[in-house]
Amino acid sequence: MDKIDFRSDTVTWPTPTMREAMANAPVGDDVYGEDPTINQLEALAAAKTGKEAGLFVASGTMGNLTAVLSHATRGEEAIVGQDSHTYLWEAGGMASLGGVVPHPLPTDAIGRMDLAQVEASVRYDDPHLPQSRLILVENSYGDKQGAPIPPDYFAGIREIADRHNLVVHMDGARLFNAAVALNIDASEITKHVDSVTFCLSKGLGAPVGSVLCGAADFIHKARRVRKSLGGGMRQAGILAAAGIVALNEMVERLADDHAHAQQLAQGLARIPGISVHLETVKTNMVFFGLDEAVSLTPGEFIEALREKANIWLGGLGERRFRAVTHYWIGAREVDLFVETVGEILRAV
Ligand SMILES: *Cc1c(COP(=O)(O)O)cnc(C)c1O
Repeated sequence: MDKIDFRSDTVTWPTPTMREAMANAPVGDDVYGEDPTINQLEALAAAKTGKEAGLFVASGTMGNLTAVLSHATRGEEAIVGQDSHTYLWEAGGMASLGGVVPHPLPTDAIGRMDLAQVEASVRYDDPHLPQSRLILVENSYGDKQGAPIPPDYFAGIREIADRHNLVVHMDGARLFNAAVALNIDASEITKHVDSVTFCLSKGLGAPVGSVLCGAADFIHKARRVRKSLGGGMRQAGILAAAGIVALNEMVERLADDHAHAQQLAQGLARIPGISVHLETVKTNMVFFGLDEAVSLTPGEFIEALREKANIWLGGLGERRFRAVTHYWIGAREVDLFVETVGEILRAV
């Protein structure tokens, strides 16, 4: 990469292997179901998540929206974490485009809603009330430092859903980070949910795309919903080819990103003026703060990193920052980051 970019794992460029696979991909018209590379990716994604079928979509947001609109209809309600991506970071699409009413609940330190509160939130049959239809969960949990949530929580959610005839969808944008961090197969997590979306375009390194997976009849319906959202694609096998490489070659190496995040967190923790909670670093994200005593604004700190070493970092408001590791960040880049932060703080 031309710069050392810690802002997100979405910044990853396709790997050389991906570019080659993209150049050579057999393609067809996917709206006719004739793109062999997309068909192969969808089957592979379904196998990895233990579902019957998959649907290639343009983004994680489109996958989640397609899922919600396929599971629920206008005036129905989705129980959802109040700091989850589907509720907070997807422009309110479930409500604005689908008329699905979100019912947000608080989450704990790793992104779990309280199970008793979830159950108490299910609506009874009364003409005044929206009707509960869906529970939305997320893993890993972005707003909780990318925390990986162990499967027993989803087993609990499943029991509630079964008791009340609800459907469970997982926003698994970083599902494989969670699985690798927990050292389990992704399907050990997804077996508890009806459908799941995961992103190919984050830590897995593909340039574009996500896959929505679920039962065959659900995916059949979702294909129509995707079309209605303008998401029908033609010779997109060129994109799916990178996704196949992502699933075959980029999942296990996520452990390297997690190790680099540890290295980064431990390095930062030794610098006076920086605060980082080491125990919250479980996947590829490091959240840290710049102490009030340091006479730099957050903007000046970010600017100094860019000027000194072409290091790009994302601010979270106040004096908090998020650094994300990925394929293009190695141990050397992490060392450079830590050294440069140390230099900047020593100079003020
Ligand atoms: C990135 C992300 C999404 C959405 O993915 P896009 O491809 O950016 O639309 C959904 N959920 C979580 C948790 C994410 O991190």
